[in-house]
Amino acid sequence: MINDAFDRMGLAHYYQRFDVPADRLKEAVDGMKALGVSGFNVTVPHKVAVMPHLDAVDEEAKSIGAVNTVINDNGTFIGRNTDGRGYLLALQEAVGGNLSHKNILMIGAGGAARGVAVTLDRFGIRCLDITNRTMEKANTLITNGIRYSPTRAITSSEAIDHMHHYDIIINTTSVGMSPHTKEMPLSVDHISSGVMLSDLIYNPLETKWLAEGKKQGAITMNGLDMFINQGALAFENVDGRFSKPGTYERNRVGSNEK
Ligand code: NAP
Repeated sequence: MINDAFDRMGLAHYYQRFDVPADRLKEAVDGMKALGVSGFNVTVPHKVAVMPHLDAVDEEAKSIGAVNTVINDNGTFIGRNTDGRGYLLALQEAVGGNLSHKNILMIGAGGAARGVAVTLDRFGIRCLDITNRTMEKANTLITNGIRYSPTRAITSSEAIDHMHHYDIIINTTSVGMSPHTKEMPLSVDHISSGVMLSDLIYNPLETKWLAEGKKQGAITMNGLDMFINQGALAFENVDGRFSKPGTYERNRVGSNEK
């Protein structure tokens, strides 16, 4: 996707994957600085571990607690995170721009959940409930990442009891991902007709949870648009010659951002 974009824009850049062992991450980052790369992406399992090896990490990535994009700003490596905004753009497209009146339930409190929750909180939502198999992680996410929205960590049975109250339910867990496609993160029995069910999983494109929700009258959205958007945002960020770093946040990250 990135190389295709370089070609279409007539830019003499090249995007290359490298499989970096955890114990050689610092050397890999130093090597990229020596080579003078314009920037790079970081993915699982290095999104958190890369942070101490960078010169700076912007506020958004700090709040999320992970980096997926690194920009070379005249020799200074700056870590950013486009996962949450990639998700936000996809969600806005699916439900319309304004989320300030939406009651949201998020299932899961792992790495992807942090990006989603922090970004929704900054953008402006009515309330966020988080349910996770390990409750402690939901509480930590709220304490470290949420600043503006009324947010609670709740059990799965509390979530089921409140199901009719939610406008949007987001699955950020890996439950239902291939090859375990028969599993569901939460029952859809008590959802309201017209609720938005949003699954971060894109393999399969339609999880069992989305398929069952659709039968109950839900509107559904898979994780593909988030995946494409986070890559497109990283692309915009990587080279100062065709982007203006910082402009995106000022223009589009939302109403709560100070
Ligand atoms: P992660 O950090 O390992 O978090 C996994 C989450 O799933 C945790 O909340 C974990 O609960 C929960 N979980 C795992 N197995 C479970 C089970 N059997 N029962 C209940 N809960 C379970 O992983 P991640 O990086 O956040 O990724 C999560 C999912 O998001 C993956 O499917 C990934 O493909 C997807 N994703 C999509 C995009 C995109 O662009 N669309 C981007 C990133 C991630 P505990 O805390 O209790 O362990």
